[in-house]
Amino acid sequence: MSEAATTTEQPQSGAPMLGDHLAMDLLNTEARADGQPVEFWSNDQDLLHWLARYGISQTATVAPADLLPQAKALRALAHQLISQFRAGQPIDYRPLNPYLQAYSTVPYLEQDAEGTLTLSRHCTAEGTGALLGPVAEAVAQLLVEGNAALVKQCEHPDCILWFYDRTKAHKRRWCSMALCGNRHKAAQFRKRSGG
Ligand SMILES: [Zn+2]
Repeated sequence: MSEAATTTEQPQSGAPMLGDHLAMDLLNTEARADGQPVEFWSNDQDLLHWLARYGISQTATVAPADLLPQAKALRALAHQLISQFRAGQPIDYRPLNPYLQAYSTVPYLEQDAEGTLTLSRHCTAEGTGALLGPVAEAVAQLLVEGNAALVKQCEHPDCILWFYDRTKAHKRRWCSMALCGNRHKAAQFRKRSGG
């Protein structure tokens, strides 16, 4: 019997994918539960798993040594830039450029089974630059093309999750109706019924 096979560790459920924008989901890899901070990137495997959910992967099985610290630095930077963007303040964007420049891509023409030509871009970078490049680009795209008024944080006081409000009426208030929307409704009901 191998002892290594036994583990009591619960596999951590991944970070929420409800931001409706990769840049928002990046910020949501840090959350809060019962007033305590929750870190969804505890180790390399957490981070590689998170990236893979967005179609970003590498062929190597081991993460580059600088991946996790670089990812956390990018997340902290994104937090600062997106907060400035949302508040209409000057955006100190320069530190984002090294992440973008490390993500080298080339145009690539190919033909699908029906013979239709498509032009896409293929990544020529490797390692950390290739893995964090698409995430940095999503942040850059938000700052360039996004509407600051649609960058929102969940209105529930115990929740810090971010989302990009793509609803037609732009009235989205909650990270998720099932989570915070219902928590809010239950609290309102308790208030009304005097409980
Ligand atoms: Zn929420």
